[in-house]
Amino acid sequence: MKTIKRKTLLYKTGVEYGDYTINIAEGCSHGCKYPCYAMMMAKRFGKAKTYEDWCSPKLVSNALELLDKEIPKYKSKIQSVQLCFTTDPFMYNYPEISDMSIKCIKKLNNNGIKCTALTKGILPKELAELSKENEYGITLISLNEDFRKEIESGSAPYKDRINALRYLHDKNCKTWVSIEPYPTPNFIEQNLSDILNEISFVDKIIFGRLNYNAKVSQYKDYKKFFNEMANLVINYCKSNNKQYHIKEGTITEETKED
Ligand code: SF4
Repeated sequence: MKTIKRKTLLYKTGVEYGDYTINIAEGCSHGCKYPCYAMMMAKRFGKAKTYEDWCSPKLVSNALELLDKEIPKYKSKIQSVQLCFTTDPFMYNYPEISDMSIKCIKKLNNNGIKCTALTKGILPKELAELSKENEYGITLISLNEDFRKEIESGSAPYKDRINALRYLHDKNCKTWVSIEPYPTPNFIEQNLSDILNEISFVDKIIFGRLNYNAKVSQYKDYKKFFNEMANLVINYCKSNNKQYHIKEGTITEETKED
């Protein structure tokens, strides 16, 4: 696959539930059409010219060397490192990217740093042998494969994602699911409880609405809808003793005009 060299890797993210992060590739073959915020930024800053460009990822070939330089600098400030915010650490059908992610997690763990990973690919079984402080997550916004092919065309099938996560849970790893960006019913009619039931084994659920898509506000009661879905997640997590986080802007006040 194509590679690039970067000057820096570790940085502190401004994202609400993140601390430090690393991005071990530029671009992402999952090609999400919500749209992908990372792709919008890459286009704005000239890192990707087209959608096709974005979907053809480049591995950061010097990621491990950069970590060697940067870990001593930031170690005392880091609570955790998330892989990744602007790409996917276990990109489906890209073993080079998965290998590099595992090597980076090992290096961070060996320095006493906990890692969190989130993917729309397949979490490798090998993660079960790394630090039990780590947290492994998948994104899951539906169970409908036709919808997945339409909106996250390059990602792993939902069932395979869930099975890989369940394997790690069964090996006593901490697991979580990001139900974000959750779509309104004018994208797909579905029952959020069905998704929650499929992932009832996880320790934590993050829920957030779909943003940056004009079709959302075409759904008349979209604010009411997101409030109801967020409350469903909160009640589910409370009654099943799970941690949860509702992303900012998902729960809003409803006005008569809404
Ligand atoms: S998996 Fe994440 S980074 Fe990759 S295209 Fe989808 S939203 Fe963008």
